[in-house]
Amino acid sequence: MLDFVQLEGDLDQEERLIRDTAREFVEEHVKPDIGEHFQEGTFPTELIPKMGELGFYAPNLEGYGSPNVSETAYGLLMQELEAGDSGLRSMASVQGALVMYPIHAYGSEAQKEEWLPKLGQGEAVGCFGLTEPEHGSNPSAMETHAEADGDGYVLNGAKTWITNSPISDVAVVWARDRSADDTPVRGFLVETDRDGVTTNKITDKLSLRASITGEIGLNDVYVPEENVLPGVSGMKGPLSCLTQARYGIAWGAVGAARDAFEEARQYATDRDQFGGPIGRFQLQQDKLAEMATQITLAQLLAYRLAELKERGDMRPQHVSMSKRNNVRMARNQARIAREMLGGNGITTDYSPMRHMANLETVYTYEGTHDIHTLILGEDLTGLQAYQ
Ligand SMILES: Cc1cc2nc3c(=O)[nH]c(=O)nc-3n(C[C@H](O)[C@H](O)[C@H](O)COP(=O)(O)OP(=O)(O)OC[C@H]3O[C@@H](n4cnc5c(N)ncnc54)[C@H](O)[C@@H]3O)c2cc1C
Repeated sequence: MLDFVQLEGDLDQEERLIRDTAREFVEEHVKPDIGEHFQEGTFPTELIPKMGELGFYAPNLEGYGSPNVSETAYGLLMQELEAGDSGLRSMASVQGALVMYPIHAYGSEAQKEEWLPKLGQGEAVGCFGLTEPEHGSNPSAMETHAEADGDGYVLNGAKTWITNSPISDVAVVWARDRSADDTPVRGFLVETDRDGVTTNKITDKLSLRASITGEIGLNDVYVPEENVLPGVSGMKGPLSCLTQARYGIAWGAVGAARDAFEEARQYATDRDQFGGPIGRFQLQQDKLAEMATQITLAQLLAYRLAELKERGDMRPQHVSMSKRNNVRMARNQARIAREMLGGNGITTDYSPMRHMANLETVYTYEGTHDIHTLILGEDLTGLQAYQ
């Protein structure tokens, strides 16, 4: 497995154990069927509780059943899951960073006790509803709103492109509270079996096919006051969750690229043309050398990000640079790996084209590549270029 600058040597025992557990899980339970799931457009839902048992959902949180592992261990976990498939890592990212994290950071004691243990175990599934049909890159323009009503709120609006919504028990829905003066964005825990909630599946995706994506329709949905996340108000709520999830993506993308690289490296020694393995041609060696270099640079950025996060010095802009760079790297390298596999490379028998297609989504969600460019541009110049 590519580890060109021997990063493994710096891992502690727990980090190795978590990485190896995830790697074995992917080898045994994911790789054999993932091509078929990708073709069928299905997610291996039977793995959801198994991933919970193995501690794959937000193990970097503390308490309520979460072991508070290091940020490097969490990153390695995301890397191994995405080496299996970006859809698998998306499942763990959404459940952990976008649902458990806001409940852990901003929830009431009762909300934490109710949801964190069962989400952590994979006994319940959650989703994160921020994007709307008319508001993707600019979620602060959201139209979904809540109005105070007796002891609770009535929600109306529509969310789209929501990972896992059709199989979720609970949705973290971000909506503007129209009953308050400055209509702040608030987080609401919406059980999906409430009257007025619909979660239609989005079909016909050509990317992230082994992941369930849907909408959330909210038509006069009543939620009691105790379903509001009390600890946060404003866009800081959803944006802080995205920082957590993007951290996992910066690591995960490296896993997808590494898996594509390993397939190409293997193929280069197995496949004979003109009387010998294609790996003896300088053209193919150039591709492998460049791939290995780009993956190694992205690994280094991810490891550094983990150090910054661990000591509390990670800024959202650090995450933007890492997500932006590492996903672009993975998207480019998966394409080159695909190319090295010739005709076989366009089938689901090999991973590179599946990774390549998945990475189109990863490049787009959690802030598009362009939006992270603007975040970095603003950080570097002090000037905003969004509008
Ligand atoms: C498979 C999948 C799963 C997803 N899961 C979730 C989820 O679980 N929860 C959730 O809330 N959302 C989810 N999303 C939504 C995702 O976050 C959005 O698609 C993303 O934020 C982009 O929004 P948009 O698609 O509306 O594109 P738009 O915002 O309409 O952007 C279109 C294009 O315009 C560019 N653009 C936009 N604004 C600017 C600007 N100011 N300057 C320059 N260029 C600009 C963009 O970079 C992009 O190229 C998911 C998306 C996909 C595809």
